[in-house]
Amino acid sequence: MKIAITGGKGGTGKSTVATALAVGLAKTKKVLLMDADTDCPNDHLILSIKRKKEKDIFQLIPVFNKDKCIKCGRCAEVCRENAILFVKGKYPVFVKDLCTGCGACMLACPTGAISKGRQTIGAIYSGEGYGVDLLTAEMRIGYEEASPVVNALKKFSSRAEKKYDHVLVDTAAGTHCNVISALLGCGLAIAVTEPTPLGAADLDLILELCRVLKVPSMVVLNRADVGDKKLVQNVVKKYKTKIVAEIPYKKEILEAYSEGKPIKDESIIKIMESIR
Ligand code: SF4
Ligand code: SF4
Repeated sequence: MKIAITGGKGGTGKSTVATALAVGLAKTKKVLLMDADTDCPNDHLILSIKRKKEKDIFQLIPVFNKDKCIKCGRCAEVCRENAILFVKGKYPVFVKDLCTGCGACMLACPTGAISKGRQTIGAIYSGEGYGVDLLTAEMRIGYEEASPVVNALKKFSSRAEKKYDHVLVDTAAGTHCNVISALLGCGLAIAVTEPTPLGAADLDLILELCRVLKVPSMVVLNRADVGDKKLVQNVVKKYKTKIVAEIPYKKEILEAYSEGKPIKDESIIKIMESIR
């Protein structure tokens, strides 16, 4: 089963749980961990894994030919990403970091002044540590759209996934397109949260997203003994799911994190039991 480790809010310990779960499962099974938090992938840092670059990720971009351009502005009109700026009487200005490569401008141009080019938007890396095979997608600095990078990672891993007993997908925080891309195809989502008002509010959003995408969910409460658990329990009740493990706030966990080691805690065993 492909399992997403997700969380509406950043900084709740999602990657800490993903890496610890991967290491725990890898003791008896073959495990692939996919780090789809493409803005700032850090699973390799938590596991002290030295990564090797597998390939660059490319995306289609428009290339403008001024000789054929009649300055009609149609390309800017159809670009939903506002990646083409147009001022009447001037040539269009292309902002490549906003382009998602949809190709609409090429189709709309009446004179064939736009041809296909490509830009590098990120790269895929691999590594191995603690018996876990790791694949990471990392977005190029300055590029804005994470979902094409996540989709490239999914495509790259798709053939290899069959040989694993468990595929874990560490998603980005939030509920944006890149998280949706990462959740699609998963049979279960483990939402990691914390007992704070913001943690509960963002948990509500991610559980709602899972409901819409028809991905069954369960919840892990991190730093469970700090804050107000009732806030999270109310959200969990609303979505008829359950808290399968509570991770305490303790020094050993913080030390393991800062030393680049997976955490060891009884709560991780509870998560493993709940997904079997
Ligand atoms: S390819 Fe799509 S996103 Fe990129 S500039 Fe053209 S219309 Fe805009
Ligand atoms: S649609 Fe084509 S012709 Fe019109 S402004 Fe854009 S590039 Fe120029």
